Amino acid sequence: MLNKLKSEIIEYGRLAGLKNYTPGYSGNLSARYQDKILITSSGSANGYLNEDEIVLIDFEGNLIEGEKKPSSEKLLHIEFYKQRPDINYIIHVHSPYLSSFACAHIPLDEPVMAENVFYFGQIPLADYAMPSSAELVRNTAKYFKEYDAVLMANHGFITGASTIKDAFMKLELAESYAKVVINTKILGGAKVLNNSETEKINLLKRG
Ligand SMILES: [Zn+2]
Repeated sequence: MLNKLKSEIIEYGRLAGLKNYTPGYSGNLSARYQDKILITSSGSANGYLNEDEIVLIDFEGNLIEGEKKPSSEKLLHIEFYKQRPDINYIIHVHSPYLSSFACAHIPLDEPVMAENVFYFGQIPLADYAMPSSAELVRNTAKYFKEYDAVLMANHGFITGASTIKDAFMKLELAESYAKVVINTKILGGAKVLNNSETEKINLLKRG
C-alpha cells in the first residue's frame, strides 16, 4: 500500500510539473496512510520525485520512515487531514495563475464560470503568514471545514480530495479558472452569473 501511494504521488507530481503547476522546488504533495501521512521531503522538486523523497510522518509531524526531512509545510497538511476525514490526498503548489491571485490578494469569489461555481462555490483567500509558520496553518486552516481549495496570500494554493486524481483535477480546474478570470479582465471584465443562476447550479450540486 505504501508503495502504491508513493507511485501515485510520483505520477501526479510529474504531471503537475509537466503542466507548470509546481515550478522548481516549490509546493508539496501528501497522502493519508492509516494514522500517518506520506509527504514529499523538504527541497524536493515535485515534477521529478524519487521514492526516497517521500517520507512517512505521524500526526505530530515526527519522521517515522525515510532518510530525508519532511516538507516544512507538514503542519498545514496535518491540520487539513485532521479537519477533514473525507480527504486522503493534498496538493500544495505555487502555480502561476492561482499564485497571481494570491499575490494580488484577490479571492476567486465571483460566479464567473458555471463549472467552477459547481466545483468550488468560491476559492477564498487566506491571510498572509510566513511559509511553514504556525500562523500560516491558523490563517489557512480556518477555511478547510467549508472549502476544499484555498488561496494563500503572497504564496500559493492548496487543495485536497478523497483520491489523488480528484485533488489533481481540482488543481487543474482552479488554475484554468484563474487564467480565465485574468483573461476576462483583459477583455473588459466578466459578466457574472446572477443569484438565481448560481442558485440553480447549487441545487444541481445538492441533488
Ligand atoms: Zn508553498
